[in-house]
Amino acid sequence: MLTSLKGRSVIVTGGSKGIGRGIARCFARAGVKLTIAARHRAEIDDAVAEMNALGATARGAICDVTDYDSVRRMVDEAAAAQGGLDVLCVNAGIFPQVKMVDMSPEDWDHVMATNLRSTFFTVKAAIPHFEKAGKGRVVVTSSITGPVTGYPGWSHYGASKAGQLGFIKTAAMELARYNTTINAVMPGNIITEGLQGLGEDYLKTMANSIPLKRLGVVEDIGNAALFFASDEAGYITGQQIVVDGGQILPE
Ligand code: NDP
Repeated sequence: MLTSLKGRSVIVTGGSKGIGRGIARCFARAGVKLTIAARHRAEIDDAVAEMNALGATARGAICDVTDYDSVRRMVDEAAAAQGGLDVLCVNAGIFPQVKMVDMSPEDWDHVMATNLRSTFFTVKAAIPHFEKAGKGRVVVTSSITGPVTGYPGWSHYGASKAGQLGFIKTAAMELARYNTTINAVMPGNIITEGLQGLGEDYLKTMANSIPLKRLGVVEDIGNAALFFASDEAGYITGQQIVVDGGQILPE
């Protein structure tokens, strides 16, 4: 049994949908104070209502993670509303599929800005709050695609997700002085709206290729995030855990 996170102050970027919503649910059940940050108000409100029903004290924040001022405002307001910041989940991300031959420089930049530059923005904005508290936890949602595997159409996405793992190594060293850890979860194929858009054939083929014979559910990632955020994980930093049902294991 992990020490309770009840009353801790948590931010989940991209917490309105998909994996972020699953992460938010796991923290909500632990009774945390929670900010759900994303761009679309209706989905944020829907997620906030669900998290409050599950046991959180939740609030929503409109934030575009590609814009540093927007991120800094969101983090500062969350910390002010929740009495500080204990856990930052850097999860917002996109995965448009475009083969390199059709990919424009703008396509590349947009994915890098949303997935990777935003990781730096969000962690940087949280540093003063971790410094003030003398402790903190950061959990980054990376992927197996990029760091471990490839997939046609995801060269920009894969680079951004591998970049996040490179980022956390040095970030871990710099955050250590604030008694703050940073780690990453690397999901395999997790059932979300975004993944469903890739089509039934893709999903079926994927599920069959996974040793545990199923796609992941969003709470599989939330539970790993919960562990990294726990007191018990306090001596783990700059690391990553693959949550993929065994997908990347060799035959
Ligand atoms: P979804 O599309 O279901 O959700 C994405 C979330 O990110 C939404 O809440 C969305 O809200 C938010 N978001 C997107 N762009 C921005 C932005 N510019 N500013 C703020 N928020 C933004 O995706 P998933 O849940 O599938 O993906 C979440 C993370 O998990 C990503 O980092 C992805 O790389 C990673 N991942 C997903 C896998 C999967 O199988 N689904 C596998 C491996 C990794 P809004 O649009 O309102 O801004």
